[in-house]
Amino acid sequence: MKGRESAQVELRCPACGRESWLVRTPIYEGFTRTGETLKCALCHHEFASEADIPFKASARPNVFTEADRPRPVTVFSEDEKGKMCRYCAEYVVNPFIQRCGLHQCEVQATDTCPHFRPKCEDDKPDPLAEIEK
Ligand SMILES: [Zn+2]
Repeated sequence: MKGRESAQVELRCPACGRESWLVRTPIYEGFTRTGETLKCALCHHEFASEADIPFKASARPNVFTEADRPRPVTVFSEDEKGKMCRYCAEYVVNPFIQRCGLHQCEVQATDTCPHFRPKCEDDKPDPLAEIEK
């Protein structure tokens, strides 16, 4: 977490009138972080949103940048995706087995292969879409 949780963000609390600091508590739904509560460290007054917090002028105004926002997890890098069987011209799939037309063996969609040949998206339908029919 890069020590972000311990960073104190100073504010002047409208509820208790004291110079306080922000306490962030993550809210989880299952294992998914859905948000966080923003509270005064001294009186536990809860702020509805970051915009409602009277930060002290001395506090850095842009403590939170775009980089702090939760991002969707990218499982495969573009490079890996570029060689996955799923995207290969030799990849054949039916409801029971996925296989490689070149090596005549069973493969997984997420396998990678040194003999990867890019599938032309235009002249072949998506093999996985075929299953749906
Ligand atoms: Zn307070």
